[in-house]
Amino acid sequence: MPIFMHPEFDAHEEIVFCHDPESGLRAIIAIHNTRRGPAVGGCRMWPYATEDEALTDALRLSRGMTFKSALADLPFGGGKSVIVGDPHKDKTDSLLIAMAGFVESLGGRYIIAEDVGITQDDAEIMQRRTAHVAGTRAGGAGDPSPSTAYGVYMGIRAAAAHRLGQESLKGIRIAVQGLGQVGSHLCRYLADDGARLSVTDIDPAAVTRAETEFAAQAVAPEAIYDTPAEIFAPCALGAVINDVTLPRLKFRIVAGAANNQLAEARHGAALAKRDILYAPDYVINAGGVINISHEGANYRKDEAVKHVARIHNTLSEIFRRADSERIPTSQAADALALERLNSVPAAA
Ligand code: NAD
Repeated sequence: MPIFMHPEFDAHEEIVFCHDPESGLRAIIAIHNTRRGPAVGGCRMWPYATEDEALTDALRLSRGMTFKSALADLPFGGGKSVIVGDPHKDKTDSLLIAMAGFVESLGGRYIIAEDVGITQDDAEIMQRRTAHVAGTRAGGAGDPSPSTAYGVYMGIRAAAAHRLGQESLKGIRIAVQGLGQVGSHLCRYLADDGARLSVTDIDPAAVTRAETEFAAQAVAPEAIYDTPAEIFAPCALGAVINDVTLPRLKFRIVAGAANNQLAEARHGAALAKRDILYAPDYVINAGGVINISHEGANYRKDEAVKHVARIHNTLSEIFRRADSERIPTSQAADALALERLNSVPAAA
């Protein structure tokens, strides 16, 4: 399919196809928009079945980063990269360094960071070849995942206050899908606030840890959608809100870390129709990139944490706007993000 006609193409500024025969690297870097600053966005490594799947992910995720940074008022644009391959089998230092070479060739227009399948250690390997890497120990701010989890926690509290009439999560059951870098930290915040957890992961060891540490109830991966709980926190992969899962959801709130939770934009309206309050993914999961925006020699954790906590207010504003304009929260978030994006003059 011609790329300019691709359904997920949304005026992306630049799309780079990267191939390095020696390391076997096949990757795509998508720069969606640099109006507010360099395109910042993580790198995902995943065994995509087709090239189109990889491209679709890069196009959607990079657009989400533009909206995320605009809503969080960061001096960043939106970008994202994907590496085709299985991180457990195909990831080598030479592949990561080849990827970093392509990032370097963009001269700072794209800043890479970790995402699914790419860890902080991997980002630090890339740093040997390019300085355009965020979220490493050298940057001062460190691993973005705990900040993402804290932002999601604050967002869940905002959603609970709006929909359940209580800010505290005491006694509220929350179904957490995915216990990786973000999900595991999130469970700690939720458990400390008194929430009761139902958890799932395709990695049985992660589930056992959550059972032990948080007295969580284990649920089979496919059964998570039917779990009786007030809140569903998707923290694994995207597209979990779709035509198949929607009729099964009995939750009152969907609020989690995963990117691209809605399989298609229309599923935002479908959630609203079922009276399920949706915390738009790119608003609630902005904690990591907010933390990155504080990187540097003068990094102050307390300042970064305060900034991340503002996700609570942004989400509350979106929920109120959705109510008053009678539109889905996903639409209210897009409207606010576009207003913030367009408030910055376009570069000459
Ligand atoms: P991760 O790879 O560390 O964790 C993902 C977890 O989900 C893994 O434990 C994996 O086994 C599990 N999983 C995969 N498929 C599953 C399934 N079908 N059912 C249940 N569990 C499944 O990734 P992460 O960094 O924790 O990110 C999680 C999500 O949050 C991703 O969508 C990512 O894009 C998004 N996100 C992450 C950050 C961050 O700071 N890491 C920031 C913003 C958004």
